[in-house]
This record gives sequence, structure tokens and C-alpha cells, in this order.
Amino acid sequence: MDQSVGWLSVMIALTAVAYRINAIDASGVIAAVPVGFLTLYFGGVTWFLALLSFFLIASYYTRHKYEQKELAGFSEKNRGARGWASVLANGGLPAFFAIMYHFTGNDNLYLLFFSGSLSFALADTIATEIGLLSRSAPRSILSGKHIARGHSGGVTLRGEMAAIAGTLVIGVICGLFFSKDEGQFAIILIACITSGLLSTNLDSVLGESLQCKYRCTVCNKYAESRIVHCDVVTIQHKGLRFIDNNAVNVISSLFGAAICSIFILAFNT
Ligand SMILES: [Zn+2]
Repeated sequence: MDQSVGWLSVMIALTAVAYRINAIDASGVIAAVPVGFLTLYFGGVTWFLALLSFFLIASYYTRHKYEQKELAGFSEKNRGARGWASVLANGGLPAFFAIMYHFTGNDNLYLLFFSGSLSFALADTIATEIGLLSRSAPRSILSGKHIARGHSGGVTLRGEMAAIAGTLVIGVICGLFFSKDEGQFAIILIACITSGLLSTNLDSVLGESLQCKYRCTVCNKYAESRIVHCDVVTIQHKGLRFIDNNAVNVISSLFGAAICSIFILAFNT
């Protein structure tokens, strides 16, 4: 009881700082407090520190060369301050896995689910943010043809390298926190690299195939959401209406968690 009050205070203080430095907006605060608190309460300090590491690195890369991305017109909104949907799309599953870990009596399966979803979250975020800065135009992950920058489904070599770096970082963090010996460390590291890379690329495939895209009827520019462009509302161009970028993220995060969990037998021996 006393500890939970203390931890809730810690979470509120941390999210206040995140809000103050513009890493999350007001709606992001409302989502981040329960996500962080539940991870801390049910997973423990190491789980929370792993989640916090993701958040700090992702925020850094979202704001990295922000002006350059903004000038080109594909920066995140609000100077990169993340809203509730983004916080839940990246942190919701990890928090859920922390709860399940607790209620299954510390079943390592959830530890791997958690590591896999976090590996996806970091790999995907920095692949996107660094890929946007790539000098060469992205190619479609499905057709291999050049496509316009900032479109879901576009991949660049630089983005792929960034994704690998992201999976390595989460793999090392989760390995240090969750392994009991070198063998387990190596398995978590390999599991995070494999799951993070596969899920990030699945995210691009789904982004190009299923994700709803809109088009301006005046200038034919594409948009990720229904917005006003050239004084008219964009119309649906392709994809499924109910699949937006956050939905694609959640599906890919689940996939990353599932791939990571395949390593459970090796991990438990
Ligand atoms: Zn237009």
C-alpha cells in the first residue's frame, strides 16, 4: 500500500517532467501514468527501467533534427510530443505483460513477451525517425519501387540499420536486467534482435497493405489520416478504414512479443 503510493508519486513526477520537456502532451500524461505505474508495480523496478529506457531513447530520436523533418513536412505533430494513442500503442502491451507476469507467479514467458514488444517499439520508432533523415528515397517494402518519403511501408537502409541498433539496445538492457547467467543473456539478446527486426518490417508491410491511406482530390498528395488539404477533406484511397498507424503498431507489437516468446524453451533450460 505505502509502496504503491510512493511509486504512483514517482510516476506522476516523471510524467510531469516528460510533459514539461514536451516529450508527451496532456493526453499522453493521462496514458503514461497508468502504463508506467502498472509496469513498476507488477513488473518491478527493472521492468520499469527497461520501459523508461525505451521512452527516453525514443523521445530523443523523435526530436533529433526535428526542424529538418518539419521542413520536409513529415515530423510528428506538436514538436514530437506524444499523445495518449501513441503512448498506449507502444506502452500498453508491455504494461499488460508486466501484470500477467505478476499474476502467473513470474512466468518467464511474459518476460519474453515484454522484451519483444519493447524491442519492436524502439526499433520501429528510431527506424522511422532516422529513416526520415535518409538522403536516398525510401523503397516500398512490397514492390521495391521508390515511394514518397514519410509513407507507411517505405523502408531505407538507414532505417533498417537504426532498427537493428534499437533491437540491440533493448536486447542488452533486457539481457542485463532479466538474465541469471551468460546463456540467458545471449538468448534474450538474440530473441530481441530477431523479434524486433521481424516485427518492424511487418509493421512496414501492414503499413503499406492494410493501413488506411487518404488522398487529396485536388493535388493527389497522400495523407495518413483524414485531414483538410488544399481546402478540401482528403478521401479514403486504400487500406481498411479502421486500421490506422496505431492499430498497425499494436498488431506488430503483438507479433514481436510472439516471436520473442518462441525462445522460451531455450531461456528456461
Ligand atoms: Zn492537396
